[in-house]
Amino acid sequence: MKCYECAKTGKEADTVAACIICGRGVCKDHLVREETPIWEGEYSIKLRCGMGVECKLDDINRWKKVLCIPCHKALKENY
Ligand SMILES: [Zn+2]
Ligand SMILES: [Zn+2]
Repeated sequence: MKCYECAKTGKEADTVAACIICGRGVCKDHLVREETPIWEGEYSIKLRCGMGVECKLDDINRWKKVLCIPCHKALKENY
């Protein structure tokens, strides 16, 4: 998967994580790691454990902190 933000500027970069909100891949330059206590589990559980997929707690803990830049911006504006 290629980074969506990089693709917008004509670059190509491999993703290292995926945004927990929109699910887009982000490279190391475009991911935002943020503590998101108000979401405890919710988004990651929906994304990772919907459709009968078993989830590991480790995965959720890693995933729930990764946002892409547009989602991070939207989140800040809505605080
Ligand atoms: Zn990027
Ligand atoms: Zn996003």
